[in-house]
Amino acid sequence: MKNKTSRDLSFRPSSFAVWSRRDLMRTIGLAAALASTAFPIYAQTQQQKISKSEAKYQDKPNGNQRCQMCQHFQAPNQCELVEGGISPNGWCQHFKAKNT
Ligand code: SF4
Repeated sequence: MKNKTSRDLSFRPSSFAVWSRRDLMRTIGLAAALASTAFPIYAQTQQQKISKSEAKYQDKPNGNQRCQMCQHFQAPNQCELVEGGISPNGWCQHFKAKNT
C-alpha cells in the first residue's frame, strides 16, 4: 500500500495547511499585482471635487445647457466634479452633454 504524504491530494487536512512556499509566494505576488492595478482606480475615486467658484458654477442655465443634461450630473442635486449641492438647472464651465 502506498504511503500518504502531505503532497498527496487525498491526504490534505485543509488546503491552507499544506500550501507550499511557492503557492504562498504566488498568491502574495498575485495579490500585490492586483492591488497595484486597483490603486489608481481607488485614488481616482478619492479625488477631491472642485469648488463652485473654480468651476464657474452658476444656479441658472447657460443657454440650453444645464446640469440635468450633463454627463457629470448625479440626480437629484450632485455633480461628480463640483462639490456641494447643485441645481439641476445650474451650469458650469465643465458642462459635457449626455450622450443620447
Ligand atoms: S454642468 Fe458642471 S456643475 Fe453641472 S453637472 Fe455638469 S459638471 Fe457638474
